[in-house]
Amino acid sequence: MSCDEKRRGSEDKTKQKRALGPLTPPPAPLIHPTKPTSKTQNSHTRAEEAAARLTAAGFTRLSERDAWALVPGGRYFFTRAASTLVAFAVGGAWREGGGVHMVGAHTDSPCLKLKPSSKSVKSGYAMVGVEPYGGGLWTTWFDRDLTVAGRVLLRRGGGGGGGGGPAAAAATSGPAPPPPLEHRLVALPRPILRIPMLAIHLQREYSETGFKPNRQQHLAPILATAAALAVSGGGKKEGGAASAAAPPSALAPSDRHHPALLAAIGAHLGVPASDIVDFDLNVCDTQPGAVCGLEGEFIASGRLDNLAMSFCATQALVDAFGGDAGAAALAAEPAVKAVALFDHEEVGSSSAQGAGGPVMRDSLFRLARCLAGPDAEGAAIRTLQASFLVSADMAHALHPNYADKHEPDHRPSFGGGLVIKHNANQRYGTDGLSAALFREVGAGRGIPSQEFCVRSDLACGSTIGPILASGLGVRTVDVGAPQLAMHSIREMCGVADVGHALAHLTAFFEDFSGLVEGVDVDALPRAAGLPVIDDPPCEACK
Ligand SMILES: [Zn+2]
Repeated sequence: MSCDEKRRGSEDKTKQKRALGPLTPPPAPLIHPTKPTSKTQNSHTRAEEAAARLTAAGFTRLSERDAWALVPGGRYFFTRAASTLVAFAVGGAWREGGGVHMVGAHTDSPCLKLKPSSKSVKSGYAMVGVEPYGGGLWTTWFDRDLTVAGRVLLRRGGGGGGGGGPAAAAATSGPAPPPPLEHRLVALPRPILRIPMLAIHLQREYSETGFKPNRQQHLAPILATAAALAVSGGGKKEGGAASAAAPPSALAPSDRHHPALLAAIGAHLGVPASDIVDFDLNVCDTQPGAVCGLEGEFIASGRLDNLAMSFCATQALVDAFGGDAGAAALAAEPAVKAVALFDHEEVGSSSAQGAGGPVMRDSLFRLARCLAGPDAEGAAIRTLQASFLVSADMAHALHPNYADKHEPDHRPSFGGGLVIKHNANQRYGTDGLSAALFREVGAGRGIPSQEFCVRSDLACGSTIGPILASGLGVRTVDVGAPQLAMHSIREMCGVADVGHALAHLTAFFEDFSGLVEGVDVDALPRAAGLPVIDDPPCEACK
């Protein structure tokens, strides 16, 4: 056994001891043994679930369309496009130029989204047209019990647009205005969709070439047989003969989607299908998350990337500064403590509500202006320069069957705590100082952390960390709990690491102000008696 192997062996034992420590019970919104995870099926439902938790903890909902009147000690949140959420608790002792200590995560996950016209019939089957969103492991979507979830736009009593009845029409000279638009979040609990695998007998090349489905041709889920819809009448548009006789319109949802699907959504929401104007729906698994493994140390669930970090970030803010006890703790805080949960990370973040858009910059500039006043010179920039971002996104644990895919000296393991991610080419926002500060804030409470960098011969993933760091100029560390099967329909992480992550992020919110006070990397004190650059002058310069 080489020295290196011995060292690794003893490190492994230490990690095993950590993993075998008391397991934190899995938080209920992340995993529930009996209920489907309907609150977390997509970015809209996730943002709303976080909003409900913040509201219950005493945070006030703001609108970006209104003027803000923020005060020290106040706790607020807002959503943009109903799928990105920003929450912040203003320290009672905040002073002009004070920083914002924030955790950023993302609400979206790879999935199949329903196309604008999803209705198709192939070989006697009613199919649903879908478009892949993000880089999913699409082979894992086959042979699962699937359903739909997302946001539905309604015009109640509007019959899909316009109306108001004869009385209303008679009372006005022109056509009556349509009823106002409403939106509802929906997650059908019943498995209504399925993408069956092709039998091995019909793809004899499977064992040599693997299963390679075509994303256009082979990913459309089956909704029903056309024969069954004919018997049930589910293929007909709501409204009977008059509606069926109406000319097809590109705008009518019942012409673009299977009426049976619209009827199922309407029935679940308790409205007629004709009220549905449009929707943003994605396909998702109906199987609830589970605690698994002989010792109950793993969590199996869809969308752990980045449901787990979104949950831990929000819950850490609530644990630190929610409720009456949190309000008292916030009174003595000199910084703003914030959480930002972004949509569209899986497709590059370039959108109105993505991390590449202006939402974080808008928030921080408004916040600084509100608190410091419009005349304070450089208030927003000073606040940004005193700020710190923890970009929290799941990390790759060492896979025992593919250990060679990992850098030999950077092998994150279950039970080892949050992984600090490094990349020399700035695919992560971490540098030596941000890593040291984040590591220390955990170590101060005995919370472990571990390090990751990708093999030099493999491409490195990325996160919202570098996007926000370059957009805001804020010091950033990239971290995440270790997991396996990232972007599978059913991923896997460690129970203990969810506990470590929640504890570490809570420590970040509660302890970071004390740790970072006075740390200015451009003016760090030099070591006493030593030059800044440890390099003897050359002969020519003497
Ligand atoms: Zn992610």
